[in-house]
Amino acid sequence: MMRKIYCQKCEKEITSRKQLFTTQIFFWVAAYCSTCYVERIKSVSSLAVSNTPLNGKYSNFLAGITVIGLFMVFFAEIPYIKIPLIVVLSLVLLMRIYSYMRFERHLPVVDASSDINE
Ligand SMILES: [Zn+2]
Repeated sequence: MMRKIYCQKCEKEITSRKQLFTTQIFFWVAAYCSTCYVERIKSVSSLAVSNTPLNGKYSNFLAGITVIGLFMVFFAEIPYIKIPLIVVLSLVLLMRIYSYMRFERHLPVVDASSDINE
């Protein structure tokens, strides 16, 4: 089940995960092409936007760290900040999963435009 993903700004079709940059804007995830993403993080409005895309290797690494962090917090004896920490870490993970479900899983890892079956 492939679904077409378009850039939030220029509405160009995004054809591979290499071209896709998802970013979190409060509790909403937006998809951009590489050109618009670079423009976006350079713009003044980037104050509300994370400079790290939600997708990509670095983000997967952070998601891994977050999972480990969640386990550590869960078993730690830190009564007052335990629940807030679990909520924050869970939200980070949920946004990562949402980005994957909403955008990334619909796209091939590399550009499929050279594929003769297309
Ligand atoms: Zn764009």
